Amino acid sequence: MHVEFHGAAGEVTGSMHLVHAAGKRVLLDCGLIQGSREAEARNTEPFPFDPSMLDALVLSHAHIDHIGRVPLLVKRGFRGPIYTHHASAELMGVMLMDTASLSASDAERANRDRRRGEPEVQPLFTAEDVQATLRQVQPLPYDQRTAVVAGVEVALRDAGHILGSAIVELWAEGRKLVFSGDLGPKGTPILRDPTVVKQADLLLMESTYGDRNHRDRPETIRELGDIFERAWHDRGNVLIPAFAVGRTQELLYWFARHWDAWKLQRWRIFLDSPMAAKVVAIYGRHHGLFDDEARDVWKQAPNPFRLPNLHVAENAQQSMAINQIESGAIIIAGSGMANGGRIQHHLKNNLGRRNAHVVFVGYQAQGTLGRRLVDGAQWVRIHGRDYRVNAQRHTVGGLSAHTDQRGLMDWYAHFQPSPPLVLVHGEDKAREALAGEIGERHGVEVTLARPGMQVDV
Ligand code: ZN
Repeated sequence: MHVEFHGAAGEVTGSMHLVHAAGKRVLLDCGLIQGSREAEARNTEPFPFDPSMLDALVLSHAHIDHIGRVPLLVKRGFRGPIYTHHASAELMGVMLMDTASLSASDAERANRDRRRGEPEVQPLFTAEDVQATLRQVQPLPYDQRTAVVAGVEVALRDAGHILGSAIVELWAEGRKLVFSGDLGPKGTPILRDPTVVKQADLLLMESTYGDRNHRDRPETIRELGDIFERAWHDRGNVLIPAFAVGRTQELLYWFARHWDAWKLQRWRIFLDSPMAAKVVAIYGRHHGLFDDEARDVWKQAPNPFRLPNLHVAENAQQSMAINQIESGAIIIAGSGMANGGRIQHHLKNNLGRRNAHVVFVGYQAQGTLGRRLVDGAQWVRIHGRDYRVNAQRHTVGGLSAHTDQRGLMDWYAHFQPSPPLVLVHGEDKAREALAGEIGERHGVEVTLARPGMQVDV
């Protein structure tokens, strides 16, 4: 058995690893590349393998950087089964439909501004492509060993990253490969802690925060409270770019838990997401996957996802109405890295204001608008226009959906004996730091995956 790395090999998006085992080809993840325009242009390139020759696809979770190219794979000839957790299967439908519609409106905008002689821009994929994709999905529960093709068995273990997120254990040819997927931090709201896995012949592990540790929970709670307090005194708005799936539900849960401490009753809270209501409903249907605390809270009234001053903007008119508000609004909108979606409209309206506060609660990949803002850009370009940035920017690491260096080290330390390790899903600085720490402590060889690299299991 061997693995070939074709995505998230030196970056954090576009997750895609190809397993050759028992004469079969099983793809792990097929994510969208996100970042700069040049990076995103790579999504339309041919796959480095023939999609029709794949036997099965296994998806770790429903974030778009892990599933966003699946409709392209299907469009280009993949007809095999797509295995993922039940909750991921439901989330996937919502996520991919949203991507299809965003991609259609991006193409429309680009074609409007197109110069004579330039080729027409096509959407990446359509709603029909998504429907065809969903027909191939075969949902799995956690902890059930299943033959995905003859000779290759898989089990999904709770990764505690978003609802339905999985660590993938894969057995073939008498060997065992483990793919961490994205690992959540311990004690994350709503979800359980990542499952401890004890044995692997080769481990593929994410390394998003391989070079740093998050602030602890109480400190993070204070930090957010301070930001809301300052923003209230500045009479400005608070903008929070957040992934519609995962981060948004956890934010609302935190809002409910720290309602009084953060004095949230005086704000108007907007969830500007056409997906939000659907995703909250999916979370509700799967409350059996919550941790004990969230299960208890879920039973109580009012439900944390129905805060009294929460307004959900489901259509474009409701979203545009938020633009009129100059102070006293907390606006949560996607995309999480601000490189698309409705948050861009709110940024256009608020970035020039000194009293506006932009709060980053998730990882901002290289090349994204979010990353440029985090890195302190004075001017940013949105929808073809330049905007001066006067707004105050905050990065709150303690709310991340990814575990940190300590958490990754800890999760790795449970394997006995320490398996050889390939680091994926991380920028080089993060991977090098983590490789150094793990190599030193466990005396194992750590490989940094590169595109096209092959590693034997
Ligand atoms: Zn993820």
